[in-house]
Amino acid sequence: METALWHPFSDMAVVRDEEFVLERGEDVWVYDAAGNRYLDATASLWYANAGHGRTEIADAAAEQMRKLAGYSIFGDFANEPARALAGRLADLAPMPDAKVFLTTGGGEAIDSAVKIARRYHDAQGQPERVHVISRTNSYHGTNGIGTGVAGIDANRIGFGEILPSSSRVAYDSVDALREEIRRVGPDRVAAFLFEPVIGAGGVLAPPEGYVQGVVDVCREYGVLVIADAVICGFGRLGTWFGVERWGVEPDLITFAKGVTSGYLPMGGVVVHGRVAEPFWERPGTTLRHGATYSGHPACCAAALANLDILARDNLVERGRLLEDELAAALKPLTAHPLVREVRAGVGLLAAVELQPELFDRLPSAVPDLSLLIRQRGVLTRTLAKALAVSPPLTIRSPEINEIGRAFAAGLDELAQKAGE
Ligand code: PMP
Repeated sequence: METALWHPFSDMAVVRDEEFVLERGEDVWVYDAAGNRYLDATASLWYANAGHGRTEIADAAAEQMRKLAGYSIFGDFANEPARALAGRLADLAPMPDAKVFLTTGGGEAIDSAVKIARRYHDAQGQPERVHVISRTNSYHGTNGIGTGVAGIDANRIGFGEILPSSSRVAYDSVDALREEIRRVGPDRVAAFLFEPVIGAGGVLAPPEGYVQGVVDVCREYGVLVIADAVICGFGRLGTWFGVERWGVEPDLITFAKGVTSGYLPMGGVVVHGRVAEPFWERPGTTLRHGATYSGHPACCAAALANLDILARDNLVERGRLLEDELAAALKPLTAHPLVREVRAGVGLLAAVELQPELFDRLPSAVPDLSLLIRQRGVLTRTLAKALAVSPPLTIRSPEINEIGRAFAAGLDELAQKAGE
């Protein structure tokens, strides 16, 4: 039956009569309306880090909803779950004396981080520092600023110019960043925004020395470093915020997804004490920014319960412990004639990219392969030229191997279809 539900990033002319309706989830498994079971190899949209069906998180949210479901934290209003969550995240973050601004998702976190960066420079007497530099292939959500800086060019098409004071540099070059800062004028650049490992843009880990290199360049020119940990955080790379793997201290970290494992919407920005200082120390330096549901008590209670699980079950470390195993299950696919590259080995995050020539013959190769793999009981995420894998951190060896087998069989069938 034709649906009234408009799906994000979807061709509704195709999807309108063909929705794939899921009904319930348990650990790494989800079930459709007919009762078929699927291995969730993407943790939904890279977020179900603690796995599905955690009744403790549901109970914590329900208990909070019975007590005080929602209340704003504008002005001096606060609630205990929001205070506790901010404190916990500040303690976990790799930066001293951190403060935490809460949002309801990753895109809102990006807008918040960039506005905090600009407002910080303004408060420091440098109001002309507004330019934001991001990277090719980057994805930072679809709110205003995230759309304006998008490094996946297709995601900017058709919307006009949203953020004129922004530009993109090659995702793998420290020199390109330095040159761009010089071209724009060092005293005009507010921030450099980057994902420690690019997610939606193809699962691209940084080259050796890159992360330290860009942080050093930003320090040299007084540019704030915003690490977008929306995908990379909460165990995905085996650490709390992803960037710890490279031993750097960013100025702001955006997070979402794994902070609640998606049980309720939540995101935010962790802000270095130095950047928060003008707002904390100088009366009148107000950040005139914030959303109705910032610090929503039920969402914060869900986040706290989720963080308890991630810590208690050592799931954050597991993201790193299992990275070689996931890589070992997928790397053999490199030998398949349809595969260009398998990228894996940094956390529980991987992508299988298809040969470029294949798209001439079969433009729908990526969604076709995803469907063939789904028919074998495994859910993957379609990217432009690749399929992504980012399972719940609770996944075990047999299930990891199952992902590899489903890929191999799906690729063979795709090869037949493409007339190999
Ligand atoms: N940043 C990154 C790196 C993301 O992957 C995403 C979402 N996939 C976002 C920001 C935006 O988050 P949201 O969809 O919650 O707005």
